[in-house]
Amino acid sequence: MLIKPREDFHNFYELKHPVVQYKLSLLRDPSTNRKLFEELTEELASMLVYEATRDLPQEKRKIETPLETFEGYDLAKKDFVIVPILRAGLGMARGLMRLLPMSSVGHIGFYRDEVSLQAKKYYFKMPPNSQESLFLVCDPMLATGNTAVAAIDQLKEFGAKNILFICLVAAPEGASKLIKAHPDVSIFAASLDRELNDHGYILPGLGDAGDRLWAVK
Ligand code: URA
Repeated sequence: MLIKPREDFHNFYELKHPVVQYKLSLLRDPSTNRKLFEELTEELASMLVYEATRDLPQEKRKIETPLETFEGYDLAKKDFVIVPILRAGLGMARGLMRLLPMSSVGHIGFYRDEVSLQAKKYYFKMPPNSQESLFLVCDPMLATGNTAVAAIDQLKEFGAKNILFICLVAAPEGASKLIKAHPDVSIFAASLDRELNDHGYILPGLGDAGDRLWAVK
């Protein structure tokens, strides 16, 4: 079930589902190995995008089953752009692709400037003429919100109008920042966690998602 965990988080949805909570708990466990971590990230991403696309417009479509004519449904629009934020977002992208294989994929990369601590763009590539698509931005951790806000700023500058943000774990600080900066962007998460620590890590969290996905440490 999708819930709004806080009154003031008007466009933030947490996916309270026993299977989601079970898989997320495995992700939080440091004994979960890299392979399983990657698989769980992908599976959770599929479940989140399944819920995030619950209100997509449909149109009727007549089909011939092997036995008779049936009035079924098509999606009214099928132009989706999945946008993983490098590098941890790559771990979610396949889960989104699995559910929406007709999608294109764009990429956005940021690094954190060590002096200003601000997110600086180093890569931005979107499919040409895709501005009217539904953009599904994914990043496992919505921590300070700086990168998410900067990524969506860039997408809007590119001309994107319809954007959803999909993450596994969000900190209240990052969610607040993103909601304030982009109130038109709905956020879907498997969990709204307690807080950020002084180093920008989410508590209880799951550690560094990029490092765990790509075995960097
Ligand atoms: N990025 C991560 O990978 N983990 C956190 O807890 C915060 C940001």
